[in-house]
Amino acid sequence: MWKLSRPSLPLKKALHMLDQENNLPEETQEIQGKPNYNQSFPYSSEGYSAFDLTEETAFMPSATIAETRKTLENLPQTPLGADKNSQNWIGVLNGGITSVPYSDGFVNTTAREEAQFEQTVTAPTGPLHGFTPKFRVREGVKPTGESARFQIRAAMGLGTVFTVPLWHSGFWITLKAPPEGELLELYRKIAAEKVILGRSSYGFMFSNGTSYTSRILLDFVLENMYESSLALKEDEDIREYIRVPDLPLLIWGMACATWPGGFQYQRACISDPEKCKHVVKEKLNLSKLLWTDTTALTQFQIKHMASKQRASMTTDAVKRYVDEFIRGQDSKVEVTPTLSMVLRIPNVTEHIDAGHRWINTIEETYSRALSLEEGSRNDYLLSQGKATAMRQYTHFVKAVEANEQEYDELTVIEETLNDLTADDKIRNKFMEKTRAYLDDSVVSLIAIPSYKCPNCGGEQHHESDLKKHPNLIPLDVTQTFFQLLVQKLRKIEER
Ligand SMILES: [Zn+2]
Repeated sequence: MWKLSRPSLPLKKALHMLDQENNLPEETQEIQGKPNYNQSFPYSSEGYSAFDLTEETAFMPSATIAETRKTLENLPQTPLGADKNSQNWIGVLNGGITSVPYSDGFVNTTAREEAQFEQTVTAPTGPLHGFTPKFRVREGVKPTGESARFQIRAAMGLGTVFTVPLWHSGFWITLKAPPEGELLELYRKIAAEKVILGRSSYGFMFSNGTSYTSRILLDFVLENMYESSLALKEDEDIREYIRVPDLPLLIWGMACATWPGGFQYQRACISDPEKCKHVVKEKLNLSKLLWTDTTALTQFQIKHMASKQRASMTTDAVKRYVDEFIRGQDSKVEVTPTLSMVLRIPNVTEHIDAGHRWINTIEETYSRALSLEEGSRNDYLLSQGKATAMRQYTHFVKAVEANEQEYDELTVIEETLNDLTADDKIRNKFMEKTRAYLDDSVVSLIAIPSYKCPNCGGEQHHESDLKKHPNLIPLDVTQTFFQLLVQKLRKIEER
């Protein structure tokens, strides 16, 4: 379910792992029910006295998957994990790769020619970015309850609350730092989703294979919501207003609330591994990792987002914000000369529902699988999942168009996707076009800048890959959050 690294990974295995990206992750990369605790990385303390091995440490990528692959492939076939230093290097490299979105998702987003990715969006009223709101204490009034808890936590340097701009949805959400007991429970829930079809494999960004994880994480985030700038009526659900590309932003916000001082990370230099296997050990300022394409927002949208106060935005204003988008509007793509699909950006409820409907149908229709041994049952369900693989993206399809007739009924869309999956050409084209549409629609994402190695001075990307934003490497926030969560739990268990 969760890909985590082992420190001594041979080169062949590392390359094999990269090759796996278009298939479902293999078993050795998965943690099934139990966290992988074997992550004690040897390190040199010289010059890094501030680095504390007892603290949570994330592994950050040095480059995209494609670039990392290129570097590893160019290496001579000598055993890389021969000495301790090399073992550590390949372990950190492997850990970093697991923090990159599956199949280099969003790399095309950061490569957009006209894009201008900024950490801050400038509004007439001032800069807009995620922030920790200050709780004002009125003189002579003693804070009580939740407010008192935040005051004490803030004084101790612990997480309090963090306010996240949901750039795709058009409002702000303030999240509370979850108590450790709730983090434990979150881990239990995700680990309890045993290896069944999509639940086991962490697939393409926002595909239905990730819908079970998305549901658990979203519920967790909303249980820890403090307030929102969106004014909702009592019978309205905020999920209907959260659009899918904002899911990573929410999880990032949760991480910012949980680790207000940032966290430690390691990164392996891939500039020229034959000469340098330096591993950077630094502290990461988490709140700086959100990048927004300022060319994708209109003046109206920026002005709208300048209002951050609780319930200060109506649902009508938020709908207008979404309608204003230049990117991510409904788009008709041709799958065959006689068949087109209208793609749209769904909300999180549509994503979760579509995933659960797909997986439930497979489980019900093929209940024969229930009598099989668990291992062969998973294999069987996986094959059934592959047989209807286009359902991974049901929620992105608004309508199917054949012979100039448009069909938008959900069951018709689902059946059409089931039927079409059998055709390799159609399936590949549909998957490709949906991913391209998604990459093109995203305007805000979590990414880490590239760096120059402090040891050898080398850049981390190939010159042939220089694009407009070669310095941004998209991150898979869920994987990173989970890496840290596993370590936090280990700390709790060691008490
Ligand atoms: Zn280096």
